[in-house]
Amino acid sequence: MAVRLLGYLVSAGFLALGILTVRDYLRQRDRRRGLIALAIGLIAVTNLIGQFNTLTGQRFTAVTTPVSITVFMASACALLLFRGTFIPLARATRVAALLASAAAVLAALVIGLPHAGAPATGSRSLAVIAIILVWSVIVSEPIVRFWLASNGRPSVQKARLRVLAGGFAGILVILLVAGFAGRAATSLALQLVFQVVALLTIPLLYASFAPPRWLRRFWRESEEDALRRSNRDLVLFSPDRATLANRSLDAGLRLVGADAGAIIDADQVLAMRGMDEATARRLADGAKTASHTDRIFPLPDPHRNALVIPLGLQQERGTIVMISGAFMPLFGSDEVLRFEQFSANLALALDRVRVVERMAEVERTKSHFLNLASHELRTPLSVIRGYLSILESGSLGTLNSSGRHAVSILSAKALEMNLLIEQMLEAARLEEGRLALRVERLDLGKVACEAIEMVRPLADDAHPLVLEEAEDQVIVMADRDRLTTILTNLIDNGIKYSPTGGAVTCVIALRGEEAVVSVRDHGVGIAEADLPKLFTRFGRVLTDDTRHIKGTGLGLYLSRELARQMGGEVAVASVRGSGSTFTLTMPVAAQEAAQPPRPPTGLRVLESTGTSQP
Ligand code: ADP
Repeated sequence: MAVRLLGYLVSAGFLALGILTVRDYLRQRDRRRGLIALAIGLIAVTNLIGQFNTLTGQRFTAVTTPVSITVFMASACALLLFRGTFIPLARATRVAALLASAAAVLAALVIGLPHAGAPATGSRSLAVIAIILVWSVIVSEPIVRFWLASNGRPSVQKARLRVLAGGFAGILVILLVAGFAGRAATSLALQLVFQVVALLTIPLLYASFAPPRWLRRFWRESEEDALRRSNRDLVLFSPDRATLANRSLDAGLRLVGADAGAIIDADQVLAMRGMDEATARRLADGAKTASHTDRIFPLPDPHRNALVIPLGLQQERGTIVMISGAFMPLFGSDEVLRFEQFSANLALALDRVRVVERMAEVERTKSHFLNLASHELRTPLSVIRGYLSILESGSLGTLNSSGRHAVSILSAKALEMNLLIEQMLEAARLEEGRLALRVERLDLGKVACEAIEMVRPLADDAHPLVLEEAEDQVIVMADRDRLTTILTNLIDNGIKYSPTGGAVTCVIALRGEEAVVSVRDHGVGIAEADLPKLFTRFGRVLTDDTRHIKGTGLGLYLSRELARQMGGEVAVASVRGSGSTFTLTMPVAAQEAAQPPRPPTGLRVLESTGTSQP
């Protein structure tokens, strides 16, 4: 009784499975869904005929047996064609399998099968064996084929193939073991076990032939995890858009188990796999003219479709195109949703890389310009300064007082220009990592004194320059020219940014292991909010008090960078309207056998007393 009840349940299960697969086919009509609905439907019919025979006490088997043989073998043929939609079968193999099925059915119909009222003969048993053999070969081959094909594939496709192999194995179990062996089994317990196995296999069949959304999501999980983990690297460490697009495309293909794909922006194909440019552009253009909610488009190959998603890039409109893989069910709404999220991230990342690329380009151009302009200006300026000093020395004749006045103004302006050019050159060297220090033991007071003398021509009577030296000599290890550059910058700023005058005082002091030079002025001062801008490249603070003062915004940036290269630092304390104090701190040189301060990694240090390199 229990066996019979289970038998009914198995039949009902098959019927439900048949109805579900037919419903799937009606929802999305493609050949693959049609074939599996047909195969399962035919198996369900075979099963129902079996139940009918049991209910009618095998009275109609003379009619039902040929029908069920034909239907049963037809189910194998449908399964064969279904299997061919994943991994195409050679035409010869397909024809051979179909002919073998037809021959087995014909033989069975002609010879007749053992059934109630027909005595079992050797040839009839042979016909049964032929039917079971042909059917089993057709259904077993995909188990091995799909399993082997799954090795080494991305997880989504691997899962799909293995589940398909499992599905075919399930059919084999149900029909051979539960259908034949189960009925033939003499022990009741064994029959029960076979029927239970058959019943449990039915939901697995549905999951494998028409995988539901949750199962597909589950397969994608490991790809999504991997994608999430690699997303940061993908975005942060992709040097350009093409690299980012290529990496993302690979991740995207794995994510939805697609076979081919492309990422296109307005004017170029950034990445492409398994399709040609014309196809990619055709699909992208086709999607542009379709309704904005359409994402899935049919392809000439009925087993595949295309998923086309616009990329909302800042500058232009890009597109990402995916073509469904042979091993994945055609894209569904779930894949579309996941892929839309993926594409939104990709668009952001592509935009970010574009901004970074542009910024790098602008930086390169700036450095190039700095270098070029300063080199080009340096030669004529040296000639001008040379002649000015000849004029000042009187070698070209004695100048009258207005001539001397004019020459002193010209010299001051030429000095200003020279400082500016040196700043530009030094900034370019710093950018390109070409800065080489010549470190030596230096008397800080002496260098400060020289710096003051250098900028003195720029200071008028309203700006007395004062030097307050420390009681003891303060010795630092530094590059003389660079130290002078820092100090002249600070003193020059002290003068420039005190438009109403006031002393600029340079105080040398020793604070523990540190040598300190403070440059104090009584000028316009700087608001606290503007302080972070001071030491950036080209960073200028423009207020009503300073707008008219000319500058490049390079001086403080350079001063701090140079100080840091020599193990020191430049800091500022300022009150708007009351003046500023810029402080240079440098490590004091060791007593006798002085060691140069440890330069930052990658920096060349030349022990020499020479002057700065070009
Ligand atoms: P520049 O003087 O060529 O503009 P700097 O890098 O030397 O470039 O200075 C950056 C900005 O810092 C200046 O534009 C100015 O606004 C401000 N600054 C520098 N030194 C002083 C100072 N002593 N007093 C007030 N503001 C200053």
